[in-house]
Amino acid sequence: MRIMAFLFLFAAVQISAAERPNILFVFSDDHATHSISAYGSKINQTPNIDRIAKEGMLFSNAFVTNSICGPSRAVILTGMHSHVNGFVANEWGGEFDGSQQTFPKMLQRSGYQTALIGKWHLYSDPTGFDHWEILPGQGRYYNPRFRSASGTAEIEGYTTDVITDRALSWIKERDVKKPFMLMYQHKAPHREWAPGPDHLNLYKDGDIKEPANLFDDHSGRAGAHPDVEMSIARHMTSIDLKLKAPGYLNDAQLAVWEEAYAEENAAYREAEPEGKARTRWKYQRYIKDYLRSVASIDDNLGRVLDYLDESGLAENTVVIYSSDQGFFLGDHGWYDKRWMYEESLRMPLLIRWPGVIPAGTSRSELVQNLDFAQTLLDIAGVQPEGDMQGISMLPLLKNPEENPWRDSIYYHFYENPGWASVPRHYGVRTERYKLIHYYRLGQWELFDLQQDPDELDNRVSDPALAGVKRELEQELQRLRAEYRVPEEDPEPTFWERTRFFLLNQAMNLLMED
Ligand code: CA
Repeated sequence: MRIMAFLFLFAAVQISAAERPNILFVFSDDHATHSISAYGSKINQTPNIDRIAKEGMLFSNAFVTNSICGPSRAVILTGMHSHVNGFVANEWGGEFDGSQQTFPKMLQRSGYQTALIGKWHLYSDPTGFDHWEILPGQGRYYNPRFRSASGTAEIEGYTTDVITDRALSWIKERDVKKPFMLMYQHKAPHREWAPGPDHLNLYKDGDIKEPANLFDDHSGRAGAHPDVEMSIARHMTSIDLKLKAPGYLNDAQLAVWEEAYAEENAAYREAEPEGKARTRWKYQRYIKDYLRSVASIDDNLGRVLDYLDESGLAENTVVIYSSDQGFFLGDHGWYDKRWMYEESLRMPLLIRWPGVIPAGTSRSELVQNLDFAQTLLDIAGVQPEGDMQGISMLPLLKNPEENPWRDSIYYHFYENPGWASVPRHYGVRTERYKLIHYYRLGQWELFDLQQDPDELDNRVSDPALAGVKRELEQELQRLRAEYRVPEEDPEPTFWERTRFFLLNQAMNLLMED
């Protein structure tokens, strides 16, 4: 009897080891929370992303540490801030050092089958993946090229659809004896927001609601700096605005594209709107294309979730939806990201794990992309190695009760010189307040997010907040010490600076006034 019990126990342990959950990490580029209906979007519906919220957990306060593509991805892989993992900026500083510790490597060593399909944007070849196929650099919206260990191939079609096809093929062909971790990563809805053929005619009727601060003048804040170039009114190109078709379409795709835009473009050229009317037209064109690009991500996520259901994989697969950072959707008159302001700082984060995460729940703790690596390792039962700087969110996922958590987050943006010329800054955000230091301008901002959620009123000199300011300054110093932020900032080389200057001049020639 005792032997039977022992054998039974042994078999149970074997099964649970074999049934470590699969992890499907669904990631997009620049997808702002205020364009996801589960987050209360007023301008669109995302029924498939919402499925993850309904069947899992939504994090209402998830934040990026450095709001730009490559650096956010490097933080996710390593669980370390930009100044530690070395990838501080997209446009200078070299490629990601793939020899350092990353969570995919640790999962791979523990017996997971690991894959990465889609946007990578860290230049070096991915490490820690059994299989990878990535878009070179930013990639393009149609007929994408994929780089893999065996070379480069071009595939016809709309990139969001193609990445999904490739991800589904990989899941179907994987080694079923091992648990898997797949990073399924879209290019969309990154600039130039090029919709796919299935969504070119969405939102044709009527206008999308404008943000209340579309005509923000940035008075009293760093956004008033004359170098900043991310204004819908002044800094969009003819390709951004679809007044010119992109060069990557084939003849059949171009015909469908022209059909979708020709009439509205002709009416715009005929009317030649000026001033605010011109900005309003640009906003509508921009936001509709952005939301069309999002709609394709959502539809394709639906295909993937349906496949997980049909194949029986859903039950033991953790599904995560996130994006490398937020984006301004006309807020403050802007597109783009980079700033520590809410629209750019926030990341979507939704996680479904049947039987573990209670369905339809949400949490408001201040979590960051810094925490993803340790969380995913914890989900897989793998002990993190090295010196990761985040906190595992597993207790938050499992336990609906209160859990001890951090009270503040640290943010640091470096990429100046860089696109949009946003000044370098670091700062601290608590549940209620945010203090930002633009250390090369000698400028500070303090916002009370409870009274001023749109961050229009910089109260850094307000005597009523002098005590709050002092506490935030101390907290900022504490965080900088805890995360070992060096006093000296990294700098681009002379050649990187020159290259960027020339690229920026070329971009300015394309701006459509
Ligand atoms: Ca991005």
